[in-house]
Amino acid sequence: MKYKAFHKLSYGLYVIATEFEGKKAGYIGNTAFQVTSSPAQIAISCHKENATIDGILKSKTFSISVLKKESETSLIGEFGFMSSNDIDKFRNIETITAQSGAPIVLNSSIAWFDCKVVNSVDTGSHILIIGEVLDSDIISEDEPLTYDYYREKYKMLAPKNAPTYVESEKLKKEVISENKVQEEPVSKVEAKSELSTHTCTICGFQYNEEEGDPSMGIAPGTPFAELPEDYKCPICNAGKDYFTEG
Ligand code: FE
Repeated sequence: MKYKAFHKLSYGLYVIATEFEGKKAGYIGNTAFQVTSSPAQIAISCHKENATIDGILKSKTFSISVLKKESETSLIGEFGFMSSNDIDKFRNIETITAQSGAPIVLNSSIAWFDCKVVNSVDTGSHILIIGEVLDSDIISEDEPLTYDYYREKYKMLAPKNAPTYVESEKLKKEVISENKVQEEPVSKVEAKSELSTHTCTICGFQYNEEEGDPSMGIAPGTPFAELPEDYKCPICNAGKDYFTEG
């Protein structure tokens, strides 16, 4: 099986949120797709260990906020890589309450859907949840964020609980074997370079020394060791100690 083939499937990125007994929960998912038009139904796939799923199944409601292309990185970091059991992800977030009672995240959102759960399917690690759309609206005409753009921009892998998660070692092996076959001369050139990559162990963001981190004011060519001591991962805010080489 070729794992990189799965990266050719197109997705967007969405904040899925719910509220049960006064507790809001939410996460970022790439699996939200329209199942039928009449009635309008949308399905999501949620990991069983995801803190939000409990609230969705108990409240039988969820909202979907469609993220825009240039979304707030702190929003992606907190909703994508942290657990609603550990932090209040909504403390700095602007929301409105949907007809169903679910909170709708407005930050970085261009459209939203309010859904009531009408069916669910246990798929093993995840539960496929089908919701009937009760209401929807457009917030702005900005471009939606695609999973492909997100991967390219941040050089990131899917979080462990995502349906699209592939172990990074499997992907690396594919890349290495491709380089050996097709690009022997290029890898020799790369071998001369002293510049390397460091990966955030919390969220998977990769700091590439050749590219620097313009979003944090770090010039291209800056070695990881020369980053300021208070450098933080632009996605999840983790400090330098959380990065490993490679
Ligand atoms: Fe990070």
